[in-house]
Amino acid sequence: MVLATTSLVSGAQAASAVTYDEKRGPNYSSRVILTFDDCPVNLTDFQRVIKYAKRKNDGHVFAPTGVCIERFRQKYGVDLAKLARSYGQYVINHSVNHPKDLRKLSCEGVARELGRPGVVTNYGRPPYGGIDATVRCGYARVSMKPWLWTGSTGDWMGKSKAEIIAAAARVAKPGATILMHMEDKGFNPDAISKIKAKLEDRGLRLCRAYRGLDNRGAIIGSPVKLPNRLPC
Ligand SMILES: [Zn+2]
Repeated sequence: MVLATTSLVSGAQAASAVTYDEKRGPNYSSRVILTFDDCPVNLTDFQRVIKYAKRKNDGHVFAPTGVCIERFRQKYGVDLAKLARSYGQYVINHSVNHPKDLRKLSCEGVARELGRPGVVTNYGRPPYGGIDATVRCGYARVSMKPWLWTGSTGDWMGKSKAEIIAAAARVAKPGATILMHMEDKGFNPDAISKIKAKLEDRGLRLCRAYRGLDNRGAIIGSPVKLPNRLPC
């Protein structure tokens, strides 16, 4: 009994000693996670990507803005966040209005930007990666952790699909979080499959779709609040 208690305590201490890395977010594994921000061009594009992800057991992160979620709700009658989660994908906050620089807001102003109709959850990506102590205050106020990225594809600069695939492969490393966007040319099954193949050539694997914390059995809907350690 004494031994068991001792090991429990030391286990808890070890877990709390791990510092949170804003660039890597809750991915403590060596798998690479693709993240798609902003807003898809249409529902078909979005459905293609999430269906393909589930079929291939890939788990991506989607970070739609609140404005985007509202637009899709009005235009198609769907909730993008719920839809993505139902395919075992992860959904994080990306503000309501995508302000150019959250650092120009107060702590309270940042907290407001992180509310509805944006995604209400425990991780969020500040637009353009703008972050400082005040922005962190806003995130803390709504119990959300900022999640940036370790490598960017630069897809938003009008790059071609081939350029985005090459960039993703170039910036990938073990445990990487790769920044991409839903409105750009890398947001389709063809680009994602080619990125995956290039990563595999380098011995890197993508995060898998959600199958519960034990990562066993069938793919199930992912939780609204992400696990603090993704079962990638
Ligand atoms: Zn964005």
